[in-house]
Amino acid sequence: MESKVIDKTLILRADRGEDLLEALREACEQHRVKLGVVTGIGAVDRAVVGAFSVETQEYTKHTYENMEMEILSFVGNISTMNGEYYGHIHATVGLPDGTAVGGHANELRISATSEVFVQIIQGEVDRAFDERVGLNTIRF
Ligand code: ZN
Repeated sequence: MESKVIDKTLILRADRGEDLLEALREACEQHRVKLGVVTGIGAVDRAVVGAFSVETQEYTKHTYENMEMEILSFVGNISTMNGEYYGHIHATVGLPDGTAVGGHANELRISATSEVFVQIIQGEVDRAFDERVGLNTIRF
């Protein structure tokens, strides 16, 4: 992973074999990004995405692997929880047959390369666990 900040935007590239979510965390911690808007694209050979159920308060997880896929969208935000990095990212992944799958992003292993831009916002927004829905929601 390599990253650089240019004019309030963190630009990063995660490389083959790296997990994009881990690379994003590493880059944000390196550059002390506490709040930001994330967008990106890339290519993966393994993707784990899912959906949250308020009823069970658990995520379903779907794994797609052993094929070359495109990250069609890598979208979300950076905030903090207890002052620490908290990335919340959703992804849409294109399969070789042209269909798309997606959801809350748990793992995205890069096969070729990736290009992520994080618009850095000054300030902090923290999160806390909301037991009504079972999620770490944004607090002001
Ligand atoms: Zn989510």
